[in-house]
Amino acid sequence: MDEQQNPIERPAYWKAVLLGLCPQCHTRNLFISHHMLQPSFAQRCDGCGLDYTSFNVGDGPAALLIIPIGAVIIAMALWLHHAVILPVWIHAAIWVPVTTLLTLISIRAAKAALLIAEYRRNAGEAGGSDLQ
Ligand SMILES: [Zn+2]
Repeated sequence: MDEQQNPIERPAYWKAVLLGLCPQCHTRNLFISHHMLQPSFAQRCDGCGLDYTSFNVGDGPAALLIIPIGAVIIAMALWLHHAVILPVWIHAAIWVPVTTLLTLISIRAAKAALLIAEYRRNAGEAGGSDLQ
């Protein structure tokens, strides 16, 4: 991973994450598809050849989402529970799909955030790359 780009020309982190930009050449091809619900990374960048398979975000995106989405859902469920008394099954019928939808919408951004952060910080597996 070369850090050859000029940091001034580098797009803002949030923009790179939301658009799925290659962390090296900033081409919009980090994912296989532009579809919002397709979170799979492409094999490599068509613009600069950066190998996306060399990055390992692992379970990081899920861990990154659990706390904020869980906090939002719990807060909304508690608010609804105190505003209107509803049976538990109605809460389940509301919050399970909402949680699933929020996760599906945000998993792509979480994956992009971690891959871009890994690239920008030149992070890798402990022990170096000569162990492969
Ligand atoms: Zn690229």
